[in-house]
Amino acid sequence: MSDSLLDEIAAVVGAAGLLTGSALAGRSAGIWSGEALRAKALVRPCSTAEVAAVMRLCHAAGQSVIPVGGMTGLAGAHESGPDDVVLSTERMQRIESIDVDGRSMTVEAGAILQQVQDAAADAGLYFALDLGARASCTIGGNIATNAGGVRVLRYGMMREQLLGVEVVLADGSVLSSMFNLLKNNTGYDLRQFFVGSEGTLGVVTRAVLRLHEAPPPVQTALLAVPEWSRVMSLLRYFDTGGLAACEVMWRNDYELNTGDFSDIEPPLTTAAPYYLLIDVFAADRDEFEDRLAACFERGDVVDGVLALSEAERQALWRIREDFEPEQRCFERVFGYDISLPIQRMEEVVETLGRELRKRDAGAEVFAYGHIGDGNLHYSIYPGSLSRDEVDALVYRPLAAVSGSVSAEHGIGIEKKAWLHCTRNTAEIELMRRVKRMFDPDNLLNPGKLFDL
Ligand SMILES: Cc1cc2nc3c(=O)[nH]c(=O)nc-3n(C[C@H](O)[C@H](O)[C@H](O)COP(=O)(O)OP(=O)(O)OC[C@H]3O[C@@H](n4cnc5c(N)ncnc54)[C@H](O)[C@@H]3O)c2cc1C
Repeated sequence: MSDSLLDEIAAVVGAAGLLTGSALAGRSAGIWSGEALRAKALVRPCSTAEVAAVMRLCHAAGQSVIPVGGMTGLAGAHESGPDDVVLSTERMQRIESIDVDGRSMTVEAGAILQQVQDAAADAGLYFALDLGARASCTIGGNIATNAGGVRVLRYGMMREQLLGVEVVLADGSVLSSMFNLLKNNTGYDLRQFFVGSEGTLGVVTRAVLRLHEAPPPVQTALLAVPEWSRVMSLLRYFDTGGLAACEVMWRNDYELNTGDFSDIEPPLTTAAPYYLLIDVFAADRDEFEDRLAACFERGDVVDGVLALSEAERQALWRIREDFEPEQRCFERVFGYDISLPIQRMEEVVETLGRELRKRDAGAEVFAYGHIGDGNLHYSIYPGSLSRDEVDALVYRPLAAVSGSVSAEHGIGIEKKAWLHCTRNTAEIELMRRVKRMFDPDNLLNPGKLFDL
């Protein structure tokens, strides 16, 4: 990159908005990476106008640009190389307005998810996206990855929370589509191009978010379940009455997260093949307890515990969300995010475990996930197996069960080689044509999702 381009960018964003050389040294490449950020420059604009001006300059200079938010992505989609300009929305965190009657909120793309949730709550409303990275991830990143999380079952993914969007395209032009309407059937739904586009089609700068009425308090229970068919019937049973989250952990995952490598005492000591963590919106705890009692009577549940305070609720959720025990226990763990029909999950996980052990007796799969959305996560201790070998064992069987190689984390660079397991040739070719239309010079997040 020429010095003159840097000078021109500095003239747009000011000295505080452009970090290069030694100023980049302390910056990390992301929450999981532990490595330093690799980039020619980190640009931190303050407004849509500044993003547009930066993009115009980069476009004219043929400069690649990697948009980033909280850098919590799990598919490598925010990764950059030494010749890239990284464009961060970290100075665009404003919550601009809340429309209580219209139940919407207008924010800048760098707004942190948790701040958005809190602002909605302060206004007596509810923003329905929620995920473990809430304290770091941004609305722009949530849009670009079509984030899912723990409330999808009740409210849908980020796609469903988005009413309007403002985006700067690769050539610096601004597309403003900041509608505040639930119903708007006026041709192509342009905002949806950017949902899940992983920064390859435009830089999201602002958004109008859908809010909901605040739900009743959440009741949380952890249940030990004796068989898979009962996991499915419990899901259906609670879904008839305010189910807000339904997370499953296979036994070895529950035991790892409450065992020697964890500081969490196991709240249930009864061994069972599955543990179900459920959140139900219910003002009346007694009524929820009665529903739980009915599950015991039917034999759907062999043990269970109900959270009696917010602290107890968070402690139960930590069992599901804590990744530290696996990192303490194993020197290498591979993470996966897939989706498949719920009826096939038991068999798919069993087969995977068998296939892993056939190749290395020590290898092990820990399965857990947002069961109500058909979304499974694996943490796999691979033993002596390579990443490619394990990837093949995880992804290849998915086509046969109409599953997806990515439920909610996206494709990034990590899953590029496996996109064809879920999307057919015609779909991938049309995606390439869309990319060429938005960004003919392939300057925005090049090499992510697929190669052109
Ligand atoms: C502990 C933990 C738990 C998680 N749980 C979940 C979960 O339950 N569900 C889930 O879906 N994800 C989860 N994630 C993954 C991650 O938090 C989400 O993918 C999140 O949406 C990424 O947001 P971000 O701001 O960190 O984006 P980044 O990681 O910075 O970027 C991700 C992608 O979005 C693009 N991007 C970022 N900002 C913009 C923008 N303004 N315009 C255009 N493109 C942009 C980047 O180029 C990149 O392609 C989790 C991550 C962690 C660390």
